[in-house]
Amino acid sequence: MQHSKELTATIFDIERNSYVDGPGIRTTVFFKGCNLRCAWCHNPESQSTVPQMMFYKNKCSGCSKCKEKCPNALETCDLCGKCTMYCPHDAREICGKEYTVNQVLREIVKDKSFYENSGGGVTFSGGECMLYPDFLAEILAACRAAGIHTAVDTAGNVPFSHFEQVMPYTDLFLYDIKAFSEDLHHAGTGVGNQRILENLTRLSSAFSGKILVRIPVIPGFNAHPDEMEKIAAFLRPLGLSGVELLPYHRLGEHKYTALEKSAPSYRIPTEEEMTAFRILFDR
Ligand code: SF4
Ligand code: SF4
Repeated sequence: MQHSKELTATIFDIERNSYVDGPGIRTTVFFKGCNLRCAWCHNPESQSTVPQMMFYKNKCSGCSKCKEKCPNALETCDLCGKCTMYCPHDAREICGKEYTVNQVLREIVKDKSFYENSGGGVTFSGGECMLYPDFLAEILAACRAAGIHTAVDTAGNVPFSHFEQVMPYTDLFLYDIKAFSEDLHHAGTGVGNQRILENLTRLSSAFSGKILVRIPVIPGFNAHPDEMEKIAAFLRPLGLSGVELLPYHRLGEHKYTALEKSAPSYRIPTEEEMTAFRILFDR
C-alpha cells in the first residue's frame, strides 16, 4: 500500500471565497481529469488528466519574449514553464499541477475562520474528483479532523466503491444529473447514465449526510419539459436535501480558444424558462 504522504493528484485550481459550491464561504479544489465529455462544459481544461499549456491570444502583445526563452522556440512544448515566467501579460499558463494531500490541506486551512463564521467549508470538484478516491478520502479525512465542513461535487460515473471510500468523511454530496434519457445523456456527454442513476439511488439510501442534486439547464440538450419531468420523477422518491437548477452560461468560452478547441454554441436559457423549470421541480 502506498504511504499516505506519497499520494498525489493533479489539481488545476484552488478557488478561495467561493459561494456557489455549497453553503457559506468555501474553498473549491478542482481536480484535473474527467470521464465525461459534456458538450457544454465550461471548464474544458478540467477534462484531460495531464497538465496543459493554455495560450490567451487576446492578452498577447507579440513581444516574442516567450519564443526567445523557450528551449524549443515554441515549436514543441514540454511544459517547462519558462515562457509563463517571462511573458509580461500572463498570456501563457500551465494548467494543472501535482499536489500532495498536505499541500492541498495547507491551502484549505488558510481560510478556516471564514468557514467558521459563514457556515462554509471545502468543496472538492473537477473535472471528476472521484477519479482519485484514495487521495480524496485522505484529504476529506484530514479536513474532517481539522473541523472543516466537507462537500464532494461529482457527476457520479465511478464505481460505487469510490463513494463507500469517501462517504465516512463527507458532509454533503453535490451530485450532477444531466439527463434521465440514456440516449440523450450519451449524445451530450459521450457516456451512458445507467451507473450514474444507480449510484445516486444507492447513495441516497446509504449516506447519512446531505445530497443536493444539481442539474445544468441547457437549451438544445435537456431544457425541455418532457426531459425535466423524467428527471423530477426519478428524483422524487430518493429523499434528497434539494435540487438546484444551473442555467447554462458562456463564461468558459475563452478557455476553449486558449486550448485551441472550438467553443460550444448553446443558447443561454431565458428567465421564463428557468422559472418554469423551477416550478416543475418545486411541485
Ligand atoms: S512551457 Fe517551456 S517548452 Fe512549453 S512553450 Fe513554454 S517555454 Fe516552451
Ligand atoms: S511573451 Fe507573452 S505577450 Fe510576449 S509574445 Fe509571448 S505570449 Fe505574447
